[in-house]
Amino acid sequence: MRSLFLPLASIPAFYTQLAKYGETYHPRVLDSHAIYELWREEEIAAEELHQALKMVRPVEPLKEFFLRSRERVASFPQLFSKDIKPKVIVGAKDCDIRSLIEIQDNVYLKGVLEDPFYKERREKYLVVTVDCPEPADTCFCLRIGGKPYSVWGGDLNLSFGEEGIIVDVLSAKGEEAVEKMGDFLKEVDKKEIKKRDKHRTDAERRLAKVNPDEFAPDLPDRIEHQLDTTFWAKALANCVDCQACERICPTCYCFLLYDIPVGKGVERVKVLDWCYHAAYGRVGGGVNPLAHFSHRLRNRFECKFMAFPRNFKVSACTGCGRCIAGCTGKIDIREVLRAL
Ligand code: SF4
Ligand code: SF4
Ligand code: SF4
Repeated sequence: MRSLFLPLASIPAFYTQLAKYGETYHPRVLDSHAIYELWREEEIAAEELHQALKMVRPVEPLKEFFLRSRERVASFPQLFSKDIKPKVIVGAKDCDIRSLIEIQDNVYLKGVLEDPFYKERREKYLVVTVDCPEPADTCFCLRIGGKPYSVWGGDLNLSFGEEGIIVDVLSAKGEEAVEKMGDFLKEVDKKEIKKRDKHRTDAERRLAKVNPDEFAPDLPDRIEHQLDTTFWAKALANCVDCQACERICPTCYCFLLYDIPVGKGVERVKVLDWCYHAAYGRVGGGVNPLAHFSHRLRNRFECKFMAFPRNFKVSACTGCGRCIAGCTGKIDIREVLRAL
């Protein structure tokens, strides 16, 4: 891995160079959150772009670039070809890149079948991860195997030094992208690395302070044996079934395929599915093993913290805290896990 130095004033030039690789999305501050925005080479002050990079995970999970909420995946008798062009996504955090590598890749690339759409996007898209110098109170990546910074998984990583940004090159794709850049990328000074390391240690300390306790190591067993529906009903008493927690979760991966007639042919459509949906578990004949809401609530925890770790040795949760920040009922998943 090699590291380069990006002066703050050159962030717009950096984005413009990245945009030569493909459509480039970068974080932008909206109210008190970061959201992804398409880079249009507008006159945005470098300091504003810098502040947006320092925010915690953008509102939209990284998977939104790789998994469409609704997508035509086949048609008959006419055929169609995929039209997937390269893209660059700047601003993914460690919790998001892990959601791709440890969860979505296991589901969409390493199962019985590969999803060709997801695969092509993974191959063509360049992901630029960014450190989190100021974790939010809702973040708990540290307690679930992550860090507030990323040293693997993306193609480039941006971290914060004394006077500018350190660009770590993490993959061949990342190398290809920086090779073509002008001479605004410099050699990194040791004092920049020292400052970066301090930011990282401070961020870890802050996360540990906000999340002082580890989760129980036997969570899968605790969930398996927690069959009391009153526990789930009580834990999630304020839930209004808005499904926001699932829609913004970077790790939820369920989908549904259905066919629709089009002219004299048929199209197959893939839509993302959510286990809080009343019809999620419904099968032929109208039987629904998850008919009761408390069963569906439990299913979310069972999937993330029992079934996935048992199958893939990793939780299907990266501690991003989006479900806490976005919950209408002000439910904190950490409290439910601790109450188990
Ligand atoms: S976001 Fe909160 S209220 Fe909405 S479905 Fe999820 S747990 Fe329930
Ligand atoms: S369950 Fe919540 S904290 Fe965990 S990955 Fe999903 S949104 Fe993030
Ligand atoms: S959970 Fe960790 S990696 Fe994710 S945004 Fe918060 S501090 Fe960053």
